[in-house]
This record gives sequence, structure tokens and C-alpha cells, in this order.
Amino acid sequence: MSARHFARRGLLVILSSPSGAGKSTISRLLLDSERDMSLSISVTTRARRPSEVEGVHYHFVTMREFEKMRDRGELLEWAEVHGNCYGTPRDPVEASLSDGSDVLFDIDWQGAEQITGAMPDDVVSIFVLPPSGSELKSRLVRRAEDDEATILRRLANAREELGHYSDYDYVVVNDDLESALEGVRAILHAERLRRRRLVGVDGFVDGIVKAL
Ligand code: ADP
Ligand code: 5GP
Repeated sequence: MSARHFARRGLLVILSSPSGAGKSTISRLLLDSERDMSLSISVTTRARRPSEVEGVHYHFVTMREFEKMRDRGELLEWAEVHGNCYGTPRDPVEASLSDGSDVLFDIDWQGAEQITGAMPDDVVSIFVLPPSGSELKSRLVRRAEDDEATILRRLANAREELGHYSDYDYVVVNDDLESALEGVRAILHAERLRRRRLVGVDGFVDGIVKAL
């Protein structure tokens, strides 16, 4: 693998999808198997779900705390989604990039647009589609972490999120979870080998040529 021979720039891997399509599930499994990749932990004003842990899934903050961070320029991007505010803390992302490690983002299309606009060369964006509308509905219900009004609101917003799939570099259908995960891994591994992201490859090739 190239990593042993020369360095590379870190990637900003963005996963977006309508709520319930499975991007958090895919993110979790991807992070289990990938070294050199960390999850960007967003701040949100949304209430914590029963299964969520502060600092692991999100940093849960008040609206006042959120506004302070935003106004101090501490957020790389932010957006209002399903009636709550979400934002990406800037410092951990910059630290990972300067380390040459990758950052995974589970954010909506508005956040993807902002990060892609700010750092187009470093972004790889993936849109996760559900296999069908009815399966998306049943996944939201099966997750059983939101009340009925919240589920209905998320389904209504799914149309808008789906309208942005064509702005993404890649599309992965999450029908069978293992195949979807395989697709995301293949994208990641290929993007890590892009020549323009490899630092020091010129010197490496020169060394080969000189030794011939
Ligand atoms: P999102 O992060 O996109 O809102 P989640 O990852 O929370 O979605 O997934 C929503 C629900 O669907 C969860 O209960 C999850 O276990 C389930 N799920 C995810 N992927 C699949 C899949 N390929 N097949 C069946 N159920 C899935
Ligand atoms: P949930 O409430 O289901 O965790 O997330 C709702 C939506 O907000 C999802 O589409 C998720 O990807 C998005 N989201 C989570 N964190 C951020 C963030 O920091 N910025 C933006 N723009 N969207 C986010």
C-alpha cells in the first residue's frame, strides 16, 4: 500500500441521505474497520435520543451555546435541519487534516454544500439512497427513537434531501447493508490512491528510477 511509501492528504468523506436511509449505521461500521479515519462529532440543539451518548454521537448544546460557537467562527458549517440546528466544529477537522488522516461527516445537503465549497479538493461526497420509499418509512418507524410527529416531519423533509442526490460524487443504495458498506469502502480506498492527494510520490518515483 502507498501509505508505507509516501504520505497523502486526508480526505473529508461526506455521507448524506434522507433520515432513516442508514447513514449512521454505515458510518459506525465503516469506522470500526478503518484506521486513519475519525468521525466529525457535530454540535446540535436537538434533544438526545435514548440510545445516544454525549460526545459520542453529538455534543448536545443549548441554542445560546450554539449561537456563541457560530458567532465566534468555531463552526466549519452549520444548518437548520428538521427544525433543529446542527454544526461541525472546525478545530478537530483541521487537526485531522494536518495529521493526514480522514474525517467522516454524517451531515445534510446544506452542510455538504458548504464544506464542498470551502475545500473542494479534499471532499468525497456520497449520497445514500434507501431501496424504496416504503422501506425508508419502515426503517424510520423500526428505529423507534422518534415520536410520530418527528417521523412525519422527517418523511416530509426526505423529498427535499433526495432532490440533492445529484450534487454528490457517488450514490450508494443501502438495500443489503453489507453490500452498501462494501461500496463505501471501495470508494474510500480508491479515493485514497488519487495521485493528486499523494504527497512525496515524485521523490519516490525518482528514487526508483535512480536505482535502476
Ligand atoms: P440515518 O442515520 O440515515 O437516519 P440509521 O442508520 O439510523 O439512519 O438507520 C435507520 C434504521 O434502519 C435503523 O434502525 C437501522 O438499524 C436500520 N437499517 C440501516 N441499514 C439497514 C439495512 N441495510 N437494512 C435494514 N435496516 C437497516
Ligand atoms: P439526526 O437528528 O437524525 O441525528 O440528524 C438529522 C440530519 O442532520 C441528518 O441529515 C444529519 O446528517 C444532519 N446533520 C447532523 N449533523 C450535522 C451537522 O453538523 N451539519 C449539518 N449541516 N447537518 C448535520
